[in-house]
Amino acid sequence: MAVYEYDYLIVGSGLFGAVFAYEAKKAGKKCLVIDKRRQLGGNVFCKNIEGINVHAYGAHIFHTDDKFIWDYVNQFTAFHPYINSPIANYNGSLFNLPFNMNTFYKLWGTKTPTEARLKIADQISQLNITKPKNLEEQALLMVGPEIYEKLIKHYTEKQWGRKATELPAFIIKRLPLRFTFNNNYFNDKYQGIPIGGYNKIIGGLLGGVETKVGIDYFYNKKELDAIARKIVFTGKIDEFFNYKFGELEYRSLNFVEEILQIDDFQGNAVINYCDACVPFTRIIEHKHFEFGKQKYTVITKEFPLSGMKANEPFYPIKDSANMKRYGQYQSLAKDLPNFIFGGRLAEYQYYDMHQVIGSALKKVKQELSNF
Ligand code: FAD
Ligand code: UDP
Repeated sequence: MAVYEYDYLIVGSGLFGAVFAYEAKKAGKKCLVIDKRRQLGGNVFCKNIEGINVHAYGAHIFHTDDKFIWDYVNQFTAFHPYINSPIANYNGSLFNLPFNMNTFYKLWGTKTPTEARLKIADQISQLNITKPKNLEEQALLMVGPEIYEKLIKHYTEKQWGRKATELPAFIIKRLPLRFTFNNNYFNDKYQGIPIGGYNKIIGGLLGGVETKVGIDYFYNKKELDAIARKIVFTGKIDEFFNYKFGELEYRSLNFVEEILQIDDFQGNAVINYCDACVPFTRIIEHKHFEFGKQKYTVITKEFPLSGMKANEPFYPIKDSANMKRYGQYQSLAKDLPNFIFGGRLAEYQYYDMHQVIGSALKKVKQELSNF
């Protein structure tokens, strides 16, 4: 029988890989975590600039309804009681998000839920949609044509690089629609930002686990496969199978960061730009996630771009063609008993952090019970 140096080689040090490694180590298994980036943490990595934790791969707000997952992340650091309340800028005017009584009042002067509901119902009654087939129809049925045109259509088409009629409806269902004066972007019971940034969580998960950064699994796949009894793969599933059935499509972002010699640029962590003529989708001002009082501030503009090959694969475009292709890769993956595929890229899922943690905990439990 072959003798392996490690029980698990974990490809990718994002939340999926880090949770898997933490649980496997706790069960006495020997793991090596590798990452092709120069640092650990995947998309939750934070860099410290001027004493501010800058979310290097886009704004990350932790939220969950699951007490177990909330307690799990709180083992590693306490959280700031941050509630995400983004603002939308359309044609120079500011609106509260998600769509709620503050948004409706600003748009129409409606002061009660009944007035707002009637206004939306009146706009929707002029449409001829019963079963929404795409994002546009879903959004029109939710909020009517005026909010759709001002706050959804152009933001969405910039973000995804295609028409809202060509996008799946589920994407817009991420946003709450409320008839109360409540600007909380999420409905979940627990929400916050880790004190000291997400590196605290990754550091806690990977403490005592052997890690190597700057190593691309595919450059050395054969040798790396030989050192561990099993491989946990959290990279792109289409790349793993050498794009045999074609590329899975992603949307990516170019982050343009500025350090400003002022203490406050926009008074809020997230401001979305909903006009077609503004090339970025949002500006993040990182210090507001942790209520920072630093002398200076750091902002990041997010410019959407295609996620093909050279760019970072951030958002899976889960339309029917991509899902069909993903199904083909998934059936190949099922035939590889020594490989575990998990996380946003290997499962081709638009996972939030709590969902990735949930998925990793489920898979590692299953795996360890069969070890
Ligand atoms: P990743 O974090 O992508 O980690 C995968 C790792 O694998 C990467 O470090 C990569 O370098 C490495 N890797 C890939 N291929 C190889 C290879 N060949 N060799 C070696 N290493 C490899 N979630 C929320 O809950 N709230 C938010 O506000 C939120 N905002 C987001 C904003 C943006 C812009 C994005 C893109 C995502 C956001 N998310 C948010 C989702 C969150 O980032 C993910 O759910 C989570 O980080 C995914 O973890 P993961 O381990 O699956 O993948
Ligand atoms: N969206 C929009 N206008 C906004 C914010 C979001 O139309 O001001 C749409 C857009 O299609 C986006 C989706 O809602 O992709 C989900 O938004 P969310 O903020 O959840 O996206 P993420 O945090 O994943 O970038």
